[in-house]
Amino acid sequence: MDYCGGGCTGPSRAAGVPGSQPLGAQEKTKKEMTAKGSSGMEVILAALENMQDLQTVLNILCILNELVSVGGGNRVGVLVSKGGTAILLQLLLSASKDVPPSEELMLQLHSILAKVGPKDKKFGVKARVNGALNITVNLLKQNLQNQKLLLPCLQVLRVYSSNTVNAVSLGKNGVVELLFKIIGPYSKKNTSIQKVVLDTLTVLLKSKANSRRAVDRTYVPALLTIYQDWHRNDTRHRHAHIRKGILGCIRNVTNIKLGRKAFLDADGMRILYSTSTECLPVRTLDPLVNTSSLIMRKCFPKNRLPVPTIKSVFQYRLPHVPAEGPVAQLYRQPPEVDDVVDESDDNDDADTENDTENEEDDRDCCLQNDDIETDLNKLRPGEQASRTMEELRMYERFFSELSEDFQGYHFHGSSPCQTPSLPSKSLSRIVVPTAPDMTPSDSNLVQLECADRALDQRPGEGLEQALVRELGRVALDGGAAPNGQRPAAESEVEREDDCSSHSSGDQAVLEVPDTAALLPLHDPELYVEMVKDTRSVPQYSEVAYPDYFGHIAPTYREHIVERLYGVQRSKIFQDIERMIHPNDILDKVVYDLDLQSCPVVDDGECLKFNSLFESGNLRKAVQVRKFEYDLILNSDINSNHYHQWFYFEVSSMRAGTPYRFNIINCEKSNSQFNYGMQVLMYSVREAINGRPCWVRTGTDICYYKNHFSRSSIAAGGQKGKSYYTMTFTVTFQHKDDVCYFAYHYPYTYSTLKMHLQKLEALRTPQIYLRQDVLCETLGGNSCPLLTITAMPQSTSNDQICQFRNRPYVFLTARVHPGETNASWVMKGTLEFLMGTGPVAQSLREAYIFKIVPMLNPDGVVNGNHRCSLSGEDLNRQWQRPNPDLHPTIFHAKGLLQYLSALQRVPLVYCDYHGHSRKKNVFMYGCSIKETVWQTDVNATSSDLHEDLGYRTLPKILSQIAPAFSMASCSFVVEKSKESTARVVVWREIGVQKSYTMESTLCGCDQGKYKGLQIGTRELEEMGAQFCVALLRLKRLSSPLELRHASHFLEAEGDLIETSCRNTRAGAGCCTPTWALRGRRSADFSRGTPRPPSSQSSTTYVLKEDEPSFMEEVDYSAESDEETDPQENPGDEEHLSDSEAVQQHPFT
Ligand SMILES: [Zn+2]
Repeated sequence: MDYCGGGCTGPSRAAGVPGSQPLGAQEKTKKEMTAKGSSGMEVILAALENMQDLQTVLNILCILNELVSVGGGNRVGVLVSKGGTAILLQLLLSASKDVPPSEELMLQLHSILAKVGPKDKKFGVKARVNGALNITVNLLKQNLQNQKLLLPCLQVLRVYSSNTVNAVSLGKNGVVELLFKIIGPYSKKNTSIQKVVLDTLTVLLKSKANSRRAVDRTYVPALLTIYQDWHRNDTRHRHAHIRKGILGCIRNVTNIKLGRKAFLDADGMRILYSTSTECLPVRTLDPLVNTSSLIMRKCFPKNRLPVPTIKSVFQYRLPHVPAEGPVAQLYRQPPEVDDVVDESDDNDDADTENDTENEEDDRDCCLQNDDIETDLNKLRPGEQASRTMEELRMYERFFSELSEDFQGYHFHGSSPCQTPSLPSKSLSRIVVPTAPDMTPSDSNLVQLECADRALDQRPGEGLEQALVRELGRVALDGGAAPNGQRPAAESEVEREDDCSSHSSGDQAVLEVPDTAALLPLHDPELYVEMVKDTRSVPQYSEVAYPDYFGHIAPTYREHIVERLYGVQRSKIFQDIERMIHPNDILDKVVYDLDLQSCPVVDDGECLKFNSLFESGNLRKAVQVRKFEYDLILNSDINSNHYHQWFYFEVSSMRAGTPYRFNIINCEKSNSQFNYGMQVLMYSVREAINGRPCWVRTGTDICYYKNHFSRSSIAAGGQKGKSYYTMTFTVTFQHKDDVCYFAYHYPYTYSTLKMHLQKLEALRTPQIYLRQDVLCETLGGNSCPLLTITAMPQSTSNDQICQFRNRPYVFLTARVHPGETNASWVMKGTLEFLMGTGPVAQSLREAYIFKIVPMLNPDGVVNGNHRCSLSGEDLNRQWQRPNPDLHPTIFHAKGLLQYLSALQRVPLVYCDYHGHSRKKNVFMYGCSIKETVWQTDVNATSSDLHEDLGYRTLPKILSQIAPAFSMASCSFVVEKSKESTARVVVWREIGVQKSYTMESTLCGCDQGKYKGLQIGTRELEEMGAQFCVALLRLKRLSSPLELRHASHFLEAEGDLIETSCRNTRAGAGCCTPTWALRGRRSADFSRGTPRPPSSQSSTTYVLKEDEPSFMEEVDYSAESDEETDPQENPGDEEHLSDSEAVQQHPFT
């Protein structure tokens, strides 16, 4: 920047202030302006750089100061861009060499720098390089009483400090101590100085070294005392920014373990709790409450989850243990190892946990991008070592439709295909239900009687007791234990023995809803029959009332609930109160499966819990306050985690009192419970009153990280992790009701068996329906397989030929037990397929359906969320299913391999799932092209030659199914999904239209159901619409229309349309870049359309649609913590000030 060449001397004024400049300089200036297009700012800077005379320099600085003080940031921006920062810093350096330095000059320089600094991204680095840091610090030290100089110096220091390297360096030079001399108790004077000091200190304390220094100097209790003083005296809240500044310091000091300890030792919890409580009524003080809450959560000592082990309560010995993987680890773990908490969290990880929590989410995001399959060999169709035809011949018996000739069959007579009813293995005697002589023979109307009257309730006896007495608790005999295991809860067996004495009785006065009449596919007695054959590891002997009575979807709409402001905060405050007022906490265990004799506390002071029934999974209930319970869910069998699904019974409640329930061992970092989803409740009394419904219920619902520590064993090796709490509040309508709570509409394995039996009754002579048992599960349950198609119209050759040659559609569901919505969708599909309408008949004439409606019966029965009895996710076993450990997958795949060997690869494969983090219903499919687009792989055009037919079915669904959203669909093949049904059936079996259909657990944010939570009616409708879509697909791909150009062009259009939509909806960090960059082109002729724009994300689907957190109070606020540069000195050169400046919370 040699504007002047060093030759010019004498005073100079800016071009904008004419009149006092000597002619020589003016000439020169003019010359430069014409020569280089210089601006007035350049002229001023040039003059400044070369001026020697103090007074002139002061004059120029004075003008410069005025210039940058007005006109917004533009002039400062120009100053920075013209190299002004360095010139000013250089001036500062030379001025500092005068003894004593000119106070006026220093004042001017600092006051300009204070304005320039925040606009110059490199200011921190430049100041350090120019040696300016110490000049300012020394100046401060010598002028602590000089109010005039203090403020600009502090302002400059604040900018210096936002550079992390500078912060460490300043700390070493005693700046933390220096600043502590300035801050003080409440005073109306000099508040702007106080504010700057606090802001600077906050930034400095982001450095761990500085925080340690502050702890060593006992500044933590000092800060707390100062905070209290301001809180007490600032009664009109004029200085909330100063109070926030003090909290900012505390927040950053408590990022280190020593800081948290000092905070606790100084009674910080109590201080911040009480000050926050006093601030709560004043909405403008929310930032103080939120910051306080954040600090308290961080410092809250981690508690132990109150269980002896995180392994499942119920034991199931596997026939053999896999050599590797989590199950092997579980079996290898010595029994004495405490898997609930880590021996020590003295690991540095614990310190950084809070710092990294949100980065971790980012990392997940990035990992997702890494997760896209880039190995083209894994994207091309590939026969894995398939089984030989000899080995596959065992599946021939499941395909009798391919050989049946229907000779001797009278086409107007009864059905030819005898369905072997599922083999009854039960030898056990059913004990119950006594009551149900309850089907009114003359009418379909339900007889509704007041329960109190009908039930013959004894005085002082609750509904439960009455029901138990009358109904024999819908309990079954214990039965013979599979694998010779002993029943887990002897007490339960005894309990029902008591009841059984009533069961033979004649007291059938109980009127229960005739759900059999209301629900065509429901039959309580048949349900109990089915339960007798269901094998559970805990040997459940009871039946939950909702499964027994059945569920009728309510007729009213259930809206996605709007979360009230501050819910999470108030819940967290209640949690913090546990620590502050420990004597108010009852800590009374009221249900505990870990104890052999699960205690049933019945003192009238607490709720009663039960979960010992099919799909139940409550492990423990602890009464913490009079109307508040902590609940712990059981792990999946043979695993030590996976809790999300829940299903349990509550009784002995009061009416009209809000009860708070906290499920305290949730694992996922976020949940739809934060976005309007409610839990499901079923009231037995309501059922008896004619409303047998699961209803969405609960207020004050939220999901947040709690203070129960999660061991590294539970957290996949990561230390210092916590569980999450899902909390909801329910006010019961009836006293002494029996109520059930569930994560989603339960659908048990016994329910499936009952439905399948009832489906038989829907068979007409036009329907070909066969039910087989695909195989037995590990737990001894049968896995049903259905074949549905239309009967041939005659035995003519043509008809039989058409019958046998119908394309196959292969459907599966419920591989994940917690995704009960998948079963409801499947129910809709099955009922549609058994329908009598013309569409159903056309559909049956179009395809042969092979359906495995429940791929994981054992998981469903035993209340697992994710796994089978093998402790593994069955939807990660499709590549190499083990016939002993994963029989349903092994044989379902076998069926597909058999079809493939016969050259009868299905036209469509679809696996029904539920999605816990997204709204709507959508599909995942497989496309090489759409996968390659997301990566840097160089693919030849032959690799990219792909029929777009995989988009047709979801596209049709998006047109006809209101819950379905095309925008949420994805056709990318991820590495982590390489062993899922969808990918394996696509790649190995060669089914191009291979899908996972995901249904939301929460609700819809588009279409007809926008704003509503999803219910069984909508789910069943989805299953039916899927059938309708298949018929449309058939019509679109009929020989006449096949390869019809317009159809394909339409599909191309859709592709691009979707891409655009997703771009708009896409979340920043997850937007992948296109590998095949370049012109926007859609090369229809070669069938390889390109994405419409280089930053489009097409259908790459994120795990979550929702923003991370709703309330600012959440841990997201902890994300602005930084790593200490001292630990990585090498990073220094990469550090830019820009981020730090942008994040500066006070600018
Ligand atoms: Zn799933």
